[in-house]
Amino acid sequence: MGVGLSEILKGKQSIALGGHIRPDGDCVGSSMGLYLYLTEQYPQIETDIYLEEIPEAYRLIQKTEEARNCIPEGKQYDLFICLDCGDEKRLGFSAPLFQNAKQTFCIDHHVSNDAFADINYIVPDASSTSELVFGLLDKEKIGKPEAEALYMGIAHDTGVFQYSCTSPETMEAAAELLRKGIDGNDIIEKTFYEKTYIQNQILGRALLESILILDKRCIVSAVSKKEMDFYGAKPSDLEGIVSQMKLTQGTETALFMYELETQNYKVSLRSKGKVDVSIIAQYFGGGGHTRAAGFTMKGSFHDVINNVSIQIARQLDQEEIQV
Ligand code: AMP
Ligand code: MN
Ligand code: MN
Repeated sequence: MGVGLSEILKGKQSIALGGHIRPDGDCVGSSMGLYLYLTEQYPQIETDIYLEEIPEAYRLIQKTEEARNCIPEGKQYDLFICLDCGDEKRLGFSAPLFQNAKQTFCIDHHVSNDAFADINYIVPDASSTSELVFGLLDKEKIGKPEAEALYMGIAHDTGVFQYSCTSPETMEAAAELLRKGIDGNDIIEKTFYEKTYIQNQILGRALLESILILDKRCIVSAVSKKEMDFYGAKPSDLEGIVSQMKLTQGTETALFMYELETQNYKVSLRSKGKVDVSIIAQYFGGGGHTRAAGFTMKGSFHDVINNVSIQIARQLDQEEIQV
């Protein structure tokens, strides 16, 4: 990137940070990592962070209680930094602060990101936004709290250093962060693997009810609003279900959906590589990465399967023709 963080911050008196709706590990990790760094290194700048409710497990990161989930009326910041957010709509409640800010800066790794801010640092090949934030910081000045946040973000978006987006640079960033004295294993255990009883129950239910389509190359499952209410599950309790489905031998893609409200589904797609799911998600108005993408769709469970499976089949057939 041509511009460094210190240049962007020059002359700024107030900064707001924001991430995407229903924040995941990388969103919380990257935005909290940058927040903790800025408040420590630039105490003269008024820095605020805006995030939707942070899932309980991620609250082991320091100062997550300082994240605000509503915006002050009429406030104008000198700079708005949006993190891990592929488009302006995904900012959710903090979008008016973005629109109002004197300058905007986007740090992201979604291939679907169309550079919607004034200054854009978008690297689709990067493992995570947390890795990109790490790259922007002065390594000597990174403290333990921000190292914990960034490590969590990198670990989450790489499926604990396993997905193909994990590069030598990712491992080097993680190593640097470990050298700050953090307990990496504990962060991974408590924020990635550990599940509440409810989370495990609903995971079990989704797996039990899953079906194989497209000649067993796609695994599909859905959780209705009624089921979520029955188990007392929130959307964040369903994270990880689609990744578990993808592990099914012989499948190429996994499609998981849950009902946000009646007949309105949040759809998650995962691919082992043959299908570019970001193309499908963008086609339906969403976005993401080649192997992990999402969108929302109105209609019934069957409408979603019918519409999405056509797009998956198209790419799988194409792939067969090329072979
Ligand atoms: P998910 O399936 O929600 O875990 O999301 C997979 C990836 O796609 C993440 O990087 C998300 O940020 C991205 N994504 C999910 N839903 C959307 C959407 N509606 N618009 C843009 N990107 C999305
Ligand atoms: Mn994210
Ligand atoms: Mn991310």
